[in-house]
Amino acid sequence: MTSTNDIRRSFLDYFENAQHSRQPSAPLVPQNDPTLMFVNAGMVPFKNVFTGLETRPYSTAASSQKCVRAGGKHNDLDNVGYTARHHTFFEMLGNFSFGDYFKERAIELAWGLLTREWGLPKDKLTVTVYHTDDEAHGLWKRIAGLPDERIIRIATKDNFWAMGPDGPSGPCSEIFYDHGDHIFGGPPGSPNEDGDRFVEIWNLVFMQHLQENDVIVSDLPRPSIDTGMGLERIAAVMQGVHDNYDTDTFRNLIAASEELTRTKAEGDQKASHRVIADHLRATSFLIADGVLPANEGRGYVLRRIMRRAMRHAHLLGASEPLMHRLVPALSAEMGAAYPELVRAQPLIEATLRQEETRFRQTLSNGLRLLDEATAGLGEGGTLPGETAFKLYDTFGFPYDLTEDALRAQGLAVDRAGFDTAMAEQKARARAAWKGSGQAASDEVWFDLAEEHGATEFTGYAGHDGEGVV
Ligand code: ATP
Ligand code: MG
Ligand code: MG
Ligand code: MG
Repeated sequence: MTSTNDIRRSFLDYFENAQHSRQPSAPLVPQNDPTLMFVNAGMVPFKNVFTGLETRPYSTAASSQKCVRAGGKHNDLDNVGYTARHHTFFEMLGNFSFGDYFKERAIELAWGLLTREWGLPKDKLTVTVYHTDDEAHGLWKRIAGLPDERIIRIATKDNFWAMGPDGPSGPCSEIFYDHGDHIFGGPPGSPNEDGDRFVEIWNLVFMQHLQENDVIVSDLPRPSIDTGMGLERIAAVMQGVHDNYDTDTFRNLIAASEELTRTKAEGDQKASHRVIADHLRATSFLIADGVLPANEGRGYVLRRIMRRAMRHAHLLGASEPLMHRLVPALSAEMGAAYPELVRAQPLIEATLRQEETRFRQTLSNGLRLLDEATAGLGEGGTLPGETAFKLYDTFGFPYDLTEDALRAQGLAVDRAGFDTAMAEQKARARAAWKGSGQAASDEVWFDLAEEHGATEFTGYAGHDGEGVV
């Protein structure tokens, strides 16, 4: 079996042999982009190179980039534990051309890696192109020899990428792997595409236009390439499993939580183990990159992820803080590729332990309140927003934790009611502060305390559909 660590190395070797500069992952906290909460794609650290603001001593590069999609526009938090293919933290393998090669070479390189270097069967692969991109369609036909029905034209934003209202844009081509008809899901573009059968493994972006105010104004004289492939998804394919959580990395992490909780990742408990393994990675990598739990901004996204994992640990019957005891297993899996994880291990463990100790003090009381509040609700019922707010305010339950807790029972939460209760409390607090003569700093304080601002952070784009950001 090819390990995930081997696959990462093999990807970087392949592109290095094809004259790409091997670049390390940038930290998860964007270095040059205050509008973006976390790095969420491999191209983010190269944004200024694509726009021409910055030059590098190379015109092609490859990397395995740490990504977090747990807030803002690309929020995959709610998928975690419930789909086979989404994580909050994942690694994006990418090759980039900064005005060097374009479509033809990009398709040749991708197809060569998947089918020749890695030997994936051609008949399991399907690709999409943007509906007007005849050039890409023709190239897939010629280079890959795919039949027309497996080069699917897509007219939605899924296959058109833009950096933002102004800047480079262009069509995308996505490569899907068919995990087999025993798994729910349809081919891309079909009504059931949002299943785990046809899994998008690689996205190729052909940057060829320049936009102003969302309108294409010219073609780039030297078009560029940005690609992104989920390491965990390709690992599932290459390890012959149909689920990212059955790959070596996740099996080892889940084995550690099974052992510590003396439970099995089966039946009702399966999602809990998956959430714990996923959130352990996100939490540990965020702390290693300097994020600490807080009540606003990045730190609040981290806290939400941690607390959600902690509720699942509680569900598995853990009677003591659990998360910090899983960190050594993560270091063993990923510490060689990411030495920052090993360096920060003491800090990660201490932070998790402290946060879990504190949260456990209110967790069971909050869950009791939640049980009482939902006792009268039938399937499909809705928890009042005020109750969700009380859980948040008194017991430290992030909104999405409450939502996640009710999901298994088919219950929803009244989000609007929650927001209203939150706004009312803020208005009350603001009025109370008015009399205290500290007006100048109040606004700042309230902005910081606006914990839900964090969940509405929209990233820098808001214009790019679901393509690689
Ligand atoms: P999907 O449609 O499956 O949500 P996407 O189109 O949002 O994926 P891209 O932005 O194109 O994803 O990112 C490039 C690649 O990164 C994807 O093809 C996929 O392999 C991987 N990827 C994206 N989101 C995740 C995630 N949450 N967890 C794991 N891998 C992901
Ligand atoms: Mg997609
Ligand atoms: Mg997505
Ligand atoms: Mg995509």
